[in-house]
Amino acid sequence: MPDLETSPNPDPPSTPDAGSKEARLALPGPSSASKRMSLQATRDTEPERRLRNRLHDLGLRYRIHVQPLSELRRTADIVFAGAKVAVFVDGCFWHACPQHGTAPSSNEAWWAEKLAKNVKRDADTDSRLAAAGWLVVRVWEHEDPAAAGARVAEAVRSRRVPLASADSPHN
Ligand SMILES: [Zn+2]
Repeated sequence: MPDLETSPNPDPPSTPDAGSKEARLALPGPSSASKRMSLQATRDTEPERRLRNRLHDLGLRYRIHVQPLSELRRTADIVFAGAKVAVFVDGCFWHACPQHGTAPSSNEAWWAEKLAKNVKRDADTDSRLAAAGWLVVRVWEHEDPAAAGARVAEAVRSRRVPLASADSPHN
């Protein structure tokens, strides 16, 4: 029974994606920053895979790396199309985690601006998706996969409208 939302393999091999939005940036930074970027600017990050495995174990089915809205060029890491829940697994460095976000000491101003832009873009993504009826769940890469998985599962459940009360023609 094929299911479009089934992820056949919850743990695909990690493939660094040179075309990802972060990896495309030209970096003026020192080699340590470049190295950090090459380690972190992948789409299939370890925290993402751990969360996906957890969701898979919980029996949830999802799609990965898709744009929730075709007209909005923002790719969510995990998408529940039916429930309209979009999950983003945010790297602590790139998304300026309050606990672990640090700006490299070299080219500090450039990095501060770059990271601030990322944060602003995240907020913009969230509000655009919310305006289109989506629920956005953001998970930090440092979060415990079990706790994050439970949070996502709860979000998906909260969006499942019981048939009896579904008086909206919208699915
Ligand atoms: Zn963090």
